[in-house]
Amino acid sequence: MSLTVDVPDDADIDQIEPLVVAAGRQAMAQTLDLACRMVEQATPVTCAHCAGTRGAWDGGDPRVLSTSFGRVVLTRRRWRCHGCQRRSRPADRLFGRLAGGTMTAALRAACVRVGSQESFAPAARTLWQVCGVRVSAEQVRRETLAAGAAAVTRQAEQTRRVLYPTAREWRAQVAAGVARTRRGQRPVAAAAPPARLLVELDGGWVPCREQAGGMEGKVAVLATGRRTDWNGRTALWPRRYVASFAAAEEFGEQVYAGAAQLGGSAAGEQVVVSAGAGWIKHVVRTHFPRALGILDWSHLARAVHKAIRAARPGGQRRAQRRVLHQVLGALAWTGQVDALEQALVGLRTPGEEVAALDSAIRYLRNQRDWLGNYQAWQARGYPIGSGAVERGVEVVINRRLAGRGRRWCRANADAVLALRVEDLNSDWDPLRVEDLNSDWDHSQVPSLHSA
Ligand SMILES: [Zn+2]
Repeated sequence: MSLTVDVPDDADIDQIEPLVVAAGRQAMAQTLDLACRMVEQATPVTCAHCAGTRGAWDGGDPRVLSTSFGRVVLTRRRWRCHGCQRRSRPADRLFGRLAGGTMTAALRAACVRVGSQESFAPAARTLWQVCGVRVSAEQVRRETLAAGAAAVTRQAEQTRRVLYPTAREWRAQVAAGVARTRRGQRPVAAAAPPARLLVELDGGWVPCREQAGGMEGKVAVLATGRRTDWNGRTALWPRRYVASFAAAEEFGEQVYAGAAQLGGSAAGEQVVVSAGAGWIKHVVRTHFPRALGILDWSHLARAVHKAIRAARPGGQRRAQRRVLHQVLGALAWTGQVDALEQALVGLRTPGEEVAALDSAIRYLRNQRDWLGNYQAWQARGYPIGSGAVERGVEVVINRRLAGRGRRWCRANADAVLALRVEDLNSDWDPLRVEDLNSDWDHSQVPSLHSA
């Protein structure tokens, strides 16, 4: 097989590249057809109907395929049996797994990969640009949602194995040294548990077809350590994302299972940081009862500052506000919650209702169990903000699921979410990308779809 590319004399590299790509795709299509020929000739033909072995080749039928490098038309040779006179196509066994469809597994994986990252119509355009193959938005949608539904099932199965292992699964885990337990206790990892488990929880709202007002996607970021990331910043690592549109009860079990997979269910200490919504506290009480709960500092600070602005408005009170910000901010920062509450109550003017002030006071009372000495927490290395999970909500939910004109059924939204979580939890390591660029090893080319 040879490759011919006609390159104009005055062409530059950017003009040559598409010519090479086109020629390369053509060569790939020819190679696939050649492989088809080789399969046909590799083994002596037996009749598919009567198992006879005497016969002759008799024309061919085309088979259209959509592959990761474009549309390919293959010719399947027909073979006529001399015994029963019926025809067989020996190359058909190549296509058994396509089940009558036209897309190869590599292209379907690419559909799922792109469809989980962007809306289905732009995803189809991306596939056209990158793979040179026309796939409809509806096909991308179907492949993505089917793979996502499988991912949902897979994740539910993982959760079940951790929380409710069968006796047989349990014995296998203990024998493999993966788990240990005491009677009546949940399984925990047998390897040395990490010193600290960090759990950050938050939610993000998505417009819903079935529910006015939308539905809340719940996200957890779980981590047992830190490392320097590809961009030079420290990042949580090892780390797992858990996300679902399920109710808190079900989501809580997924979070616990995710923590167990990191060994974090047996960690020396457990720290939970969140903005403190009701469902979050329920999850923490149920699955991480000995965890230290920390209310996200920026939420607390914002509530206090809003209350001060609302209670002492106007330009002429700017100096007064500055003092209050300092004093009350210091009370909040050092965990003097009673003094802070009294100071806020003291800002009330008789006969005047200030909504932001009242809601800040209510907030303090409701979040009491998650307030404390932020200064000391920070000195001990605890995170005092839930920035990781806020970014998590942005990455896992908002970028793909939120936005104008997007409305989701719960099942479909969960499917896409499961794919995005699996992608983030996969072994793909951005730290290694530079190595790939400098010393490209063709045997190590990452597959398009990590699952
Ligand atoms: Zn036959």
